[in-house]
Amino acid sequence: MPSEHHFTLNGDERWLIRFTTLTGDAYGITYTQKAKRPRIILHDGMRGKHRLTVLIHELLHAIFPQASEEVIEQAGKDLARVLLTLYTMTPKELEK
Ligand SMILES: [Zn+2]
Repeated sequence: MPSEHHFTLNGDERWLIRFTTLTGDAYGITYTQKAKRPRIILHDGMRGKHRLTVLIHELLHAIFPQASEEVIEQAGKDLARVLLTLYTMTPKELEK
């Protein structure tokens, strides 16, 4: 079942973060602030480290729309690794 969350990013932009079933190759898609409704769509089948890494990756696209895919990919992996090392969560907490 899809779940939706609203966050303010980049100061005053209203963003929708939606978990739903994505088919195809992508685990996450970011429609930037130039879109009518800025939003991040994430595959709801992801758990744990994978879920956090993809969420951070898509948030970086939202916050730094001019950054290259290579920069976003590296920064996302680095942030996820550090956060997962410094913050311990139970698998149940990661699934929320
Ligand atoms: Zn990307």
